[in-house]
Amino acid sequence: MTYHNYSLKQLQQIDAQHHLHPFTDHKDLRGAGSRMIVRADGPFIYDAEGHQILDGMAGLWCVNIGYGRNELAEVAYEQMKELPYYNSFFRCAPPAAGLLAQKIAQLAPKHLNQVFFGSSGSESNDTALRLVRHYWALEGKPEKNRIISRQNAYHGSTIAGTSLGGMEPMHGQLHGAVPNIVHVMMPYAYELALPGESDHEFGLRAAKAVEDAILEAGPDKIAAFIGEPVMGAGGVKIPPASYWPEVQRICRKYDVLLMLDEVITGYGRTGNWFAAETFGIEPDTITTAKALTSGYLPLSALLVSDRIAKTLEEKGGEFHHGYTYSGHPVCCAVGLKNLEIIEKEGLVERVREDTGPYFAQMLRERAAGHPLVGEVRSVGLMGAIEIVKDRETRERFLPSGSAAVIVRDHAIANGLMMRATGDTMILSPPLMWTRETIDLAGERIAKALDLAE
Ligand code: PLP
Repeated sequence: MTYHNYSLKQLQQIDAQHHLHPFTDHKDLRGAGSRMIVRADGPFIYDAEGHQILDGMAGLWCVNIGYGRNELAEVAYEQMKELPYYNSFFRCAPPAAGLLAQKIAQLAPKHLNQVFFGSSGSESNDTALRLVRHYWALEGKPEKNRIISRQNAYHGSTIAGTSLGGMEPMHGQLHGAVPNIVHVMMPYAYELALPGESDHEFGLRAAKAVEDAILEAGPDKIAAFIGEPVMGAGGVKIPPASYWPEVQRICRKYDVLLMLDEVITGYGRTGNWFAAETFGIEPDTITTAKALTSGYLPLSALLVSDRIAKTLEEKGGEFHHGYTYSGHPVCCAVGLKNLEIIEKEGLVERVREDTGPYFAQMLRERAAGHPLVGEVRSVGLMGAIEIVKDRETRERFLPSGSAAVIVRDHAIANGLMMRATGDTMILSPPLMWTRETIDLAGERIAKALDLAE
C-alpha cells in the first residue's frame, strides 16, 4: 500500500494539512491527529497502532456483510478488466446496471419496479426531489411543488439534501435553502410526548403535524412528504407503531406522495429488505445507498413506483437529469454480488428472527438499568442508548452531548466503535454479527458506561 513508506506521525500531519474532513472542526486535527484506520476484517477494523476495534457502526451504517469479502473484490476486478466504465446515456447501457435494477425491483415492495442510479444517498434524494416535482408538473399541477419533511431529519449534505433535512447546524450554514420545504415535528416520544400521553397517542399527534402542514398550505400545493422510516443520524428515533400508518393515511387522503429515505434502513437493517415492510408503508419513492454495495463502492438507487414511472414515460419525454456515474458497471456488479451474498447467507431473516431480538435483549441487559441511561431502543440491528443525568426527570448533562462523547471515547478505547449524536449513543453493526459478536459488544458497552459514570 502506498502509505507504508510513511510513519504514523507523518500521515497524520499530511492529513491535517491537506485533507478537509466531513463534519469535522479542523482545529481538532492539529493536535492528536486523525485515528488512521488501515485495514479491516470481518466485524473488526484496525488502526495504525494495531488496535483491533469491533465496528459497531458498520463504517457509516453501510458495511452490512462485513469487511474482507473477497467475492466483492473479485467481481470488481473482473468487471474492471472487461468494462471499467460506460454510461447509460444516449440509449447505451452496461448490462450490470439493468441486472442490478431488476434484482432491486424483485426485492422491493411490488409496486416499485424502476430504479435510477447515482453515487450517494444525497444525490439520490436530489433526484427524488426533482422527480416528484416533475411528476406533478407532468400531471398538470406545477404548483403542487412543496415538500414536507421533519425537524432533525438527515437526508444528505448537498444543497437539496441539507434543505430536505432538518438539522439546525446544517441549515445555519446553508445561506439559502431550496425553497418550498417545510419541517414538522419528529416522532420522538422520549423527549416530545406530553405528560400522561401514551406512545400511541403521541404517534397520532406527530402524524397530525403532517396533516396540519398540508392543510396550512393547501393540498394542491404539497407534492410530497419525505421521511426516514427510523431517523438514523438524528439518533435512531423509532416512531410509535401508530405513526406511519397514520402518515400514510393522511398522504393518501390529500394525494400527497410519500418519499421514504431508506439510505440507512434499506437492504436488511430492520429485519426486512426494506423498512417499508417493517412499518407497513407503501411509498412512492425509496431512496437507498450505503448497504447496496455494503459500502465497498459508492452507489445509490432511487426506487420509483409504477405510478410515477408511468407518467414519466407516457407524458414526460426526456427527463433532463443524470450523473456521469449513474449505473456505473463496476459499482453495479459489486452491488449485485453483495445482494446475492446477503440473500444466500440469509442475513435479513437472521436479523429479523435471531440477531435483532438478541441485540435488543443485550441492550436491555447491558445498558438499560445503568444510572447513566434513560432509555434503550432498537429495531433490527440499529439501536440507541440515551445518556441522562437523572433517569427520573430525564434531565441531560450540560453542555448537550458532553457525556455521550465521554462514553463513546471509553467505548472506542475498549475496542468498540460507537457514535455519539447529541446525548444519544448509536449502534448500527454489520448484519453479519453473530450472537457472540453481540455479547462482545455488550461487555464493552457495559464497561464504557461504568467508566464514564
Ligand atoms: N439519507 C440518510 C437517511 C442518510 O443517513 C444519509 C447518510 O448518512 C444520506 C441520506 C446521505 O447519503 P450520502 O452520505 O451517501 O450522500
